[in-house]
Amino acid sequence: MSAVLTGCLARGPGTAVPYPPHVAAIPVTMPATAPAIAQQFIPLTPTGQPGHMGIDVADATGTPVIAAAPGVVTISLYEPAYGNRIVIDHGKDSTGRRVQTLYFHLAARQAEVGQRVARGAPIGTLGETGLLSSYPHLHFEYHREVEPGARVRSGNNWWQGMVQEDPNGNWVDGPGRVTCYRGQSAPADKITYPVVCRGSSSPGLTAP
Ligand SMILES: [Zn+2]
Repeated sequence: MSAVLTGCLARGPGTAVPYPPHVAAIPVTMPATAPAIAQQFIPLTPTGQPGHMGIDVADATGTPVIAAAPGVVTISLYEPAYGNRIVIDHGKDSTGRRVQTLYFHLAARQAEVGQRVARGAPIGTLGETGLLSSYPHLHFEYHREVEPGARVRSGNNWWQGMVQEDPNGNWVDGPGRVTCYRGQSAPADKITYPVVCRGSSSPGLTAP
């Protein structure tokens, strides 16, 4: 979640940018209907600095952003760097480690703290709020506890005890297999695409 920014990208659905050569890439298969991945997960820069700790999904402002898995909203706020932000807690994985997903730069937030959301439920709209966004995209992160019970929830320390993982390693259909939400059920630590795919629907909305 730092500022490795890309320029204005005109990438269509079904496309994903390659990983840079210094990163351990996960081979990515994109459904033709999935909005583009405009930036991949880059845990470290070539000089060893923290890189880009999520994926960027590019689409038009106002496109529905949907919950990547069922859970409870733990953060819903605006701040200047990342703009409108939502965080969803998905409970514990099979090893007892808590998982959460993060949604940044939203144009609008449509979920409040404490709200329980189903997989695929609309939680906001894609946008470019925040100083770290230069074009309309969703910055999406996947966090898992480093060990059971490690998460710190105090003040702004909502991320402590968690480590960012490449979202491409955690899709419902398997690593690298980007999975559009189509009403499927799956373990809560496995994710479906956080932006609605063309021709799909979500509880409470109809896709463009
Ligand atoms: Zn990003």
